[in-house]
Amino acid sequence: MKLQQQNILIIEDEAQIRKFLRISLEAQGLNVDEASTATAGLSLAQANNHDLIVLDLGLPDLDGQVVIRRLRQHLKTPVIVLSVRASEDEKIQALDNGANDYVTKPFAIGELMARVRALLRFNQTMVSTRDRIEVHDLLIDPDSREVFRGEQALQLSRKEFDLLHLLAIKPGRILTHQLLLSTIWGDSFINETHYLRILVGHLRQKLGDDPMQPRYILTVQGVGYRLKS
Ligand code: CA
Repeated sequence: MKLQQQNILIIEDEAQIRKFLRISLEAQGLNVDEASTATAGLSLAQANNHDLIVLDLGLPDLDGQVVIRRLRQHLKTPVIVLSVRASEDEKIQALDNGANDYVTKPFAIGELMARVRALLRFNQTMVSTRDRIEVHDLLIDPDSREVFRGEQALQLSRKEFDLLHLLAIKPGRILTHQLLLSTIWGDSFINETHYLRILVGHLRQKLGDDPMQPRYILTVQGVGYRLKS
């Protein structure tokens, strides 16, 4: 999935870090807005429709934790927190307030970018797909995370559900190994194709699908998988 034309808001008081982040994000084809205070950041976030917010916790005018809570009163935009505060409590508080991820300063830019990509991708995939999906004799309910085949409820693990759901959002569309691995496991797993192979095997078993003559999940050799349309 391409990240072009997505809008990122950086709320960070250190000019040097803002500049560094802007260059790195723009290099990925993303549009960047900047704010150096919480107040400016909150009003930019309200005024524009950002796809992701990178938020520093240590801001001059308001504590970042308060900023997260204010953002969450109106917005579902994913938030990655940057902070020099590495304590477990601080992280849990940020996540409880509604942040989606937490990166401790000093951070490796490669890792931060991987997390940005993962969140944008997740958001793109999930935003418009809270609806129940009926495909073949399957009913997939993303809210309750239940799957029925005919009348029968299937007991799927979290990852099995995610895999089936991603495939069922658009039957016939090929999802690459890389996309499935990074969405289900995370960006650092993009080369672990054997994880995916095992997961597909388990899911097929629960669906009663025969890999030699699949009714549901088709293997696209060397590329990925798709759900039979
Ligand atoms: Ca700061």
